[in-house]
Amino acid sequence: MSENPVIQANNLCIDYRLGKHWINAIRDVSIVIKPSETHGLVGESGSGKSTLALALMRYLTKNARITSGEILLDGENLLTKSDANMRKIWGRDLSLVPQDPLASLNPSYTIGNQIAEITQLHQGLSGQESLRRAVEMLRRVKIADPEAVARKYPHQLSGGMQQRVTIAMALSTQPRLLILDEPTTALDVTTQAVILDLFRDLIRDNHAAALYVSHDLGVIAQMCDRVTVLYSGEVMAS
Ligand code: ADP
Ligand code: MG
Repeated sequence: MSENPVIQANNLCIDYRLGKHWINAIRDVSIVIKPSETHGLVGESGSGKSTLALALMRYLTKNARITSGEILLDGENLLTKSDANMRKIWGRDLSLVPQDPLASLNPSYTIGNQIAEITQLHQGLSGQESLRRAVEMLRRVKIADPEAVARKYPHQLSGGMQQRVTIAMALSTQPRLLILDEPTTALDVTTQAVILDLFRDLIRDNHAAALYVSHDLGVIAQMCDRVTVLYSGEVMAS
């Protein structure tokens, strides 16, 4: 079956500025992710996994520059899009589940309101509708008593619950590509297993694609249909 890729990067090179110098982090990397695929990105710490994952969303830090290559989302080059355009694409088409859930949640909003805000912004849902949808998303990530959790603040939840909330947020707009950057690192083993099962169901049910970043080959082998191995900023195998 020759399905068009959801996202495709061709010959990417990325540098970081450190003081006066530019240090190369990603060298001539190409990657193709197709619909319904869970694509693993594995490599040792510092090999460039997060840099590549964030580049695919055009979400790099300010001291990074893409020196060559292109990134195509449904065939359109993201590198030529305006910032305003990118803000629409983030959340709607591309979602990130970050490594540290608490840091990515807003401490002063309830869980329900944070999830609701995303669908209000990207799908134009009303306040009431978006809150209903937030509770439904919490139920889908298997949070017990989602109505009560929706009224809580991030610090009132355990690490595992916070991570489920970030997953619910990332999936609330049914993105084309979900990027999970070492999402289970902060979790205990039992919670990891539950959350890994959940990803698989959610990716299948949403017909999305996912890029699953991990330094753990065992997790990648269990989770992913295809794998790209990074070594020192280059693709070693795919
Ligand atoms: P990984 O996610 O595989 O651990 P990273 O993509 O975080 O690897 O890092 C790849 C390389 O880029 C490393 O040498 C790291 O030090 C460097 N790097 C990552 N982020 C930054 C940054 N914001 N500024 C400067 N260098 C960075
Ligand atoms: Mg990383």
